[in-house]
Amino acid sequence: MTKNAPPEISIVVPLYNEEESLPELIEWIKKVCTENRLTYEVIMVDDGSTDGSWWVIERLAADHPELRGLSFRRNQGKSAGLNAGFRAARGRVVITMDADLQDSPDEIPALYEMIVKEGYDLVSGWKKKRYDPLSKTIPTKLFNLVTRKMSGIKLNDFNCGLKAYRQEVVKQIEVYGELHRYIPVLAKSAGFTKIGEKVVVHRPRKYGSTKFGWERFINGFLDLVTLAFVSRFSKRPMHFFGLLGTLMFLFGVMAASYIGISKLIALRRGIPAILVADNPWFYISLTSMILGTQLFLAGFLAELIIRNNPRKFDPAVVERTVNINREALYESK
Ligand code: UDP
Ligand code: MG
Repeated sequence: MTKNAPPEISIVVPLYNEEESLPELIEWIKKVCTENRLTYEVIMVDDGSTDGSWWVIERLAADHPELRGLSFRRNQGKSAGLNAGFRAARGRVVITMDADLQDSPDEIPALYEMIVKEGYDLVSGWKKKRYDPLSKTIPTKLFNLVTRKMSGIKLNDFNCGLKAYRQEVVKQIEVYGELHRYIPVLAKSAGFTKIGEKVVVHRPRKYGSTKFGWERFINGFLDLVTLAFVSRFSKRPMHFFGLLGTLMFLFGVMAASYIGISKLIALRRGIPAILVADNPWFYISLTSMILGTQLFLAGFLAELIIRNNPRKFDPAVVERTVNINREALYESK
């Protein structure tokens, strides 16, 4: 590779406290890429590790000119890591891979081919046989089912860390919050619809431990809701709020008529009846309707504000870099 020609592949590796795996990972990537005569760069994004990950990256960069890296001052989450890596990436094809050696670099050439030869915009790995505890694989199945239904994208494994992209895709999408689980959905709504899947080898974690606990499911679900609303209703909120508002209003009218009519019947028959406003359901329906609408509106407005803020990635969080020009991260995508 001549010094300034962009490489064929950029391999983006977000990592958080993975010092033991990194040397093995870079050697393995190097072996695979040289054997297949692919020019490449590896971008390691140290997401505020508190172990020696950054020093390992610096040490490795001394022997590996293809290694580029940056570190966040504090832990920002995998999405922010990917986003920064995507900004720095120069390759025609960008491949993301977890640092923990659960994803095999042996998959790189086939993924690359699918993008350049078969014309895919995005190819997602599918860990058909997983080496993770049941407590993770079962909720994951559910997550994938819901995401598949809501997005209409036929993937079996949305959250696989191993994915390949045409460069334009990563330069156009903005991965923030915990949206790394839904990158195919982001890509689809940006107009990249040729999305494919490849069964990939998954390996047990060799070093360290998982960085995501049970909260992943709650956060993941909330993100899906966000995504569903933003992609469906952000341009026509009235279709959602109008419908919901009408339904609630009708429910209110029905509840009120029920209370009122039964009161009238009771009066007519001369049965003693409590005051309408003393009926507990009167307050329950009233408050839940008001609170529900208000909460929803607040959430939606907040989401719109976030979506309209173009600076979701703040390069100021980057503390150190190797072989990466800081200015490049500031340039808008
Ligand atoms: N990771 C990260 N920032 C975080 C959490 C995780 O960069 O805040 C990285 C982590 O180091 C690994 C990848 O994301 O390279 C996937 O994380 P992990 O292996 O813990 O997830 P799992 O395989 O258990 O889903
Ligand atoms: Mg892992």
